[in-house]
Amino acid sequence: IFLIMKSARITAPNEPLSISESETPKPQGDQVLVKVGSVGVCHSDLHLWEGGYDLGDGQFMKVTDRGVKYPVTPGHEIVGTVEDIGDNVSGIVKGDQVLVFPWIGCGECPACKVGNENLCDAPKSMGVFQDGGYSDYALIPNFKYLAKLDGVDPDAATSLACSGLTAYTAIKKANQNSPEFLVIVGAGGLGLMGVQIANAITDAKIICVDLDDQKLNTAKEMGADFVINSKESDAPEKIMSICNGKGADSVVDFVNAPPTAKLDFAVLRKRGNLVLVGLFGGSIELSLVTIPLKSITIQGAYTGNYDDMVELLALARKGTLNPVISKRYNLDECNTALEDLKARKILGRAVINP
Ligand code: NAD
Ligand code: ZN
Repeated sequence: IFLIMKSARITAPNEPLSISESETPKPQGDQVLVKVGSVGVCHSDLHLWEGGYDLGDGQFMKVTDRGVKYPVTPGHEIVGTVEDIGDNVSGIVKGDQVLVFPWIGCGECPACKVGNENLCDAPKSMGVFQDGGYSDYALIPNFKYLAKLDGVDPDAATSLACSGLTAYTAIKKANQNSPEFLVIVGAGGLGLMGVQIANAITDAKIICVDLDDQKLNTAKEMGADFVINSKESDAPEKIMSICNGKGADSVVDFVNAPPTAKLDFAVLRKRGNLVLVGLFGGSIELSLVTIPLKSITIQGAYTGNYDDMVELLALARKGTLNPVISKRYNLDECNTALEDLKARKILGRAVINP
């Protein structure tokens, strides 16, 4: 006799996710079986569903060329209850409420060796390269990837594994030059976390940019000092004037598409620091001479490491961070959840409660 679990799987790009039934796995060795209570719906799930990333000029980077194999169960923001453990597991017991660190690496490469598994050369991330949390149960390869919630709300905690974690790393990078003015582009799941984190860990005046006034209002409630709707053609001038005509010391772009990247460069001041995070895609032309003359820094940020996730959980426990969870779906509604996110109907984060 074995238990049946339901999982929502992407079988091919742009095809509706299908609910499949399979045998619930039995954890061996270091493995842990988690009964999924809540899983965040991230914009990256949409890229996985669409089959890749827009490189601009009609070019497309397929996720299958990066090692994704369909069918795959998406979902990398996983919170749940420990259902069963393998023989080697210690420190985690049945019934523990846990957040999963999904950015699993090979354990061997230079990044993994210093604890940055999120930057591994051969990543095995859950919900991307191996099955994730759009499922009744998730099999976690090693108990070391779990962190106990200890009182943090399960729905809110989901976003600390990806949107919060990514925002945290990006804001830390943006804070390296102690910005007086920090521009945050995109007030979605990541951007709203970015605003709260910037408020908590920097002394910067925060300017938040989006196309959607409702999201901008929320950004203001979360601590943005100024909000700018980039639909308005004079958005760059408005930002420049807030920044005393000199421009922003740091910009974090959670969209990172041609229109926002152009805005970033237009408002970045001399010695400025640009952190690119979004995977919306496309390409732009760069004025090369401007980069040395203004001595700007351009860097990418990709999720974060386990220790950062644990730090974030502590911030959430203290009430410093309050992830915005505006919508809840069940597993059968996963296609609607993804469509709603695509149609920009989600404020903050949506979660699936399988
Ligand atoms: P989201 O859909 O919740 O939010 C996107 C926001 O950007 C929305 O508020 C939307 O109104 C706004 N927006 C879209 N186009 C815009 C434009 N031209 N100008 C201004 N605002 C615009 O998405 P999310 O979950 O916050 O993810 C954002 C991006 O970050 C996605 O591409 C996602 O895949 C990526 N991501 C990157 C990492 C990383 O580690 N680098 C991690 C997670 C997600
Ligand atoms: Zn994500």
